[in-house]
Amino acid sequence: MANAALQEIYEALGEDGLRKARWQEKMHIAAMITQILWTAVFALAMIPTGWAAALRDALGGDTTFGALLVILAIMLLNSVFMLPHAWFFGYRVEQILGTNRQSLAGWLLDYFKQGLISLVIFGFFFWGVYLVFRAWPVAWLPALVAVVALLALAIYLAQPLMIRAQVGVGPLEDDELNSRLARIFEKAGFPFGGVGVLKAGEKTSKGNAMLSPKGGKLEVLIFDTLLEEVDPEGIEFVVAHELGHRAHRDWPAMLGLISLLFVVGIALAHAVLVWADGRWGLAGPGDPATLPILMLVLSFWMLAGQVVTNTFMRSREYAADRYALELTGNLPAFERAFVVLAKQNLADPEPPEWVEFWLHNHPSIARRLEAARRVVEEKG
Ligand SMILES: [Zn+2]
Repeated sequence: MANAALQEIYEALGEDGLRKARWQEKMHIAAMITQILWTAVFALAMIPTGWAAALRDALGGDTTFGALLVILAIMLLNSVFMLPHAWFFGYRVEQILGTNRQSLAGWLLDYFKQGLISLVIFGFFFWGVYLVFRAWPVAWLPALVAVVALLALAIYLAQPLMIRAQVGVGPLEDDELNSRLARIFEKAGFPFGGVGVLKAGEKTSKGNAMLSPKGGKLEVLIFDTLLEEVDPEGIEFVVAHELGHRAHRDWPAMLGLISLLFVVGIALAHAVLVWADGRWGLAGPGDPATLPILMLVLSFWMLAGQVVTNTFMRSREYAADRYALELTGNLPAFERAFVVLAKQNLADPEPPEWVEFWLHNHPSIARRLEAARRVVEEKG
């Protein structure tokens, strides 16, 4: 049970850290529930009032191009409507936790940039969905699958752009660490695309790392906050873990799973839109004025679907840990890195089981430490 590493994490967190970690968890749950409620309020404000239908008529939403305008207008209204929610859970909560290092103006600018990227990606996605419903009123499923596949591709390609839109990237000054990481890449058989240091420390005290495609190679992107506190062997382990995800193709598998959930969610929404046909001035599934309903159904569905995606991801996390342990053979570095990560990100090492099952895409730290210990024992 409680091994030495776990004990160390509790000590590093302290009473205050543990209290904050548990509060952060509560806020995470509150954010999801209120987001659904907020989306429902938005739909109620737009649909029974006839505003969505009026907006469609004003923007010529029955034409192909007009439909795009209606979609963008509704999405813009929605992101303005969501602003207080995003401010509270994205900014105020981090401020209370003491992890936020950003000014309100800086945060607003980020919210705007992020909103712009998702407006483009999801705007075109929803446009595609409505055009499919118009073109194939009965046999819409095959074309819908194609549109969702395009969305998955767009998200995959936009990932590096999303990161760079948020934080600046600088070079890694530490040559020794650079060659250490180059060696682990070589050992794993991946082309090393260098290391970029994300200047996240200006915005948050939290730490993270990821791999990003760069001209046929893989670039390591590390938060400067992580570099400051995790030792080189720990960084090596974190990178080896990410290589594990690449080796197992977890990211495409995850996108595939989410795409499948999206197709089912939109199919459900289609049924609701058929039912809503003729009410509140709405004109069936091809009518972009129905977007608030579609977004609401999709939100509900994806909230439930989280159980599936998170369960899948947690299993992939164990596999990536095992991969990294086999590649580095360095359990102590893994344990030391976790002490820092738990403290930086205010993670409860042992959250309630139902919370982990429903909400977490990573296993709890206690479980990961235990599983890692088992892997090492197995190998003797
Ligand atoms: Zn992972």
